[in-house]
Amino acid sequence: MPCAKDAVVLEKPQTRNMTASAKGTAEAPGRNVKRKAGLNRAILAKGRHGFKRACENAARRTGTRIVQVDPAYTSQTCHPCGHVAAQNRESRSVFRRVACGHRANADVNAARNTLTRGWTNSLLPE
Ligand SMILES: [Zn+2]
Repeated sequence: MPCAKDAVVLEKPQTRNMTASAKGTAEAPGRNVKRKAGLNRAILAKGRHGFKRACENAARRTGTRIVQVDPAYTSQTCHPCGHVAAQNRESRSVFRRVACGHRANADVNAARNTLTRGWTNSLLPE
């Protein structure tokens, strides 16, 4: 159960980027267009807004803070050493930084970066 000093860190919605057309151009047609269009519809329909609203309602009851952070580069940043590079993503699901040897699930690595960014932001005056 959260207590008054707890915070929930959420990524600021980037819906516009996430729902950009998957169709591509005549020269460079998109891939998985139908599947991405379905995902876009789901995101726009309720996804993140509903989740954020549920978090805000729970936060009001428990005195928990909601901290929203810019998610830029969280998926390309090595959590232990902070190095940022697109090459750190070995694949969609695996994060691997060759120089320091850190290897992790890409989502877990990005979530840790988001959490750290949220903690840092929550220390700043409002
Ligand atoms: Zn590293």
